[in-house]
This record gives sequence, C-alpha cells and structure tokens, in this order.
Amino acid sequence: MQSRGLRLADPDVGAPARRGCAGPTDHKAVTVDGRTVMVPVHTGGASESPFFATAPDADGTSRLQRGAIPIANISFPKTPRFYALQTFDGIPYWKIAQLHGADVLATTVFQTCVRYGNRLTACQFCAIGESLAGGRTINRKTPEQLAEVARAAVLLDGVKHMVMTTGTPNFKDRGAALLTESAFAVRAAVDIPIQAQCASPEACFPAISRPDAVVAARARRCRPARTDTMVPMQPPFPFVPGEYRVRLAAYPHRSRTDVAVFPVARRAA
Ligand code: SF4
Repeated sequence: MQSRGLRLADPDVGAPARRGCAGPTDHKAVTVDGRTVMVPVHTGGASESPFFATAPDADGTSRLQRGAIPIANISFPKTPRFYALQTFDGIPYWKIAQLHGADVLATTVFQTCVRYGNRLTACQFCAIGESLAGGRTINRKTPEQLAEVARAAVLLDGVKHMVMTTGTPNFKDRGAALLTESAFAVRAAVDIPIQAQCASPEACFPAISRPDAVVAARARRCRPARTDTMVPMQPPFPFVPGEYRVRLAAYPHRSRTDVAVFPVARRAA
C-alpha cells in the first residue's frame, strides 16, 4: 500500500494532507493494526491503486479493501487540536510545527538553505522553499515558538516525540546550533524525546557539544528514500550536487565527530 498508494472514498478523512511542498507530501497518515504509516493518496499512482478505503463509520473506522476483498479495519489520525491555536502575534501553530503520523511533532526550524535556488547545488528531491513561498510556514521558528507549540501539542493531542530538521543556513555548523537552542527550549517546556536532523557539521562547536544537550543532530540523509540514518560517506552525485562538492575525505571524520557529540547518533551508527 505504501508503494501503490490508497484511493479514498472520503478525500477529507483524517488530518489534512499536504499537496506539493516539503514532505511528507501527498500522503496521509493511516493507522493499521495499531501502527501508523504514511501512505500516498494524492499522487498519480495512488489514483490507480488497487487499495481502497471506505468512508469512515461513526467510530472513525474505515474498511481497507484490495479490489473487492476486505483486508483490515483502518483509521486516520484526526486534525490535532493544537492546529486551532496561534501565537500572541497571530502566527498559527500549524505554521510552526505539524503533526506527522499519529504522535510525532515535526518542524523545520529554518526554512531556507544556502543550496536551494541554485540547480547546481540544490538537492534534486528538495522542496523546502515551496512551503515558504506558498505561505504554509514561516522562515525561522524561534525556540520560544517551538516550545509553545510543543507544549500545546503534548497537552492537547498527546504528542510523544518531536523531529526537528533544518535547511542548511551555512557551511560551518550546517544548522546544528539552531537545532540545539531549539531543543533546549522544547525540553525546558515538555519532556519528550527529540530527534534533530542536519547535514553533518564541519566541526564540533562548543554550542553543540554541551553534554546535557538533548539533541541528536544526525547527518541528514540526502537520498530520495529518506531513511533515517547517518551519512557516513558521500551520497550519490545526481541527487545532492552541492554536498558532492564536500571532499570525500571529510566524511569519515565528520561522522566520528557526530558520533562523539550526539549520543543518539552513536546508537544509530
Ligand atoms: S541541503 Fe537540505 S534543505 Fe538544502 S537543498 Fe539539500 S535537502 Fe534541501
């Protein structure tokens, strides 16, 4: 179903799906047998998928079918309540962070990138600027804003963990310091695990090496598959032309630095 997509009897079922823009795009969260996965629903392929979800009943349960054959009962996580809130200066919370899956709060703390906008350097799969251009997010989410939204998402919607990513603001720390100050603020507000993703920092900066920093800045993976691992070596050229210019020899050192600084990265490695 994740490859073929899903046709929906009710396209508005569950939380709204993003169309275009940064990911996860054109997908909906679907809960199957207690586990929530992201499934394409607005792609061209999904419109021809053999998988079909009936409209939800009064309990919010839909029947998943392959052709005419019933497979399972499924449900769709609802629009979270924190989406209805806004900051004192009028920024909707959903522009600061979004619900992914069933209980994950996700944000891009900095929505621009030194590589974006130049075809010679931008990653081919990336659409980080489209959400900003479309007015669906703000460029810089301050630590205070993130803490405010995270607190609401935990209290109102039972969010259990948070993912922070960032565009690459510079070629030195590549966003690690931004992620760290954001993580500190969120952890001061709510006690949830945080996974932070950025390209591998060039050096181990004091700002990111504090032992109590509850942030695992992990080398962001620049592959279309988007699996969640460190990048120990150079990713394939056609997809990430900018990163390809980083000397190959730098990668093993950077990975060792990441592993030394970030405990979660060490476990992942
Ligand atoms: S480095 Fe990250 S934000 Fe920048 S173009 Fe590549 S994927 Fe997009």
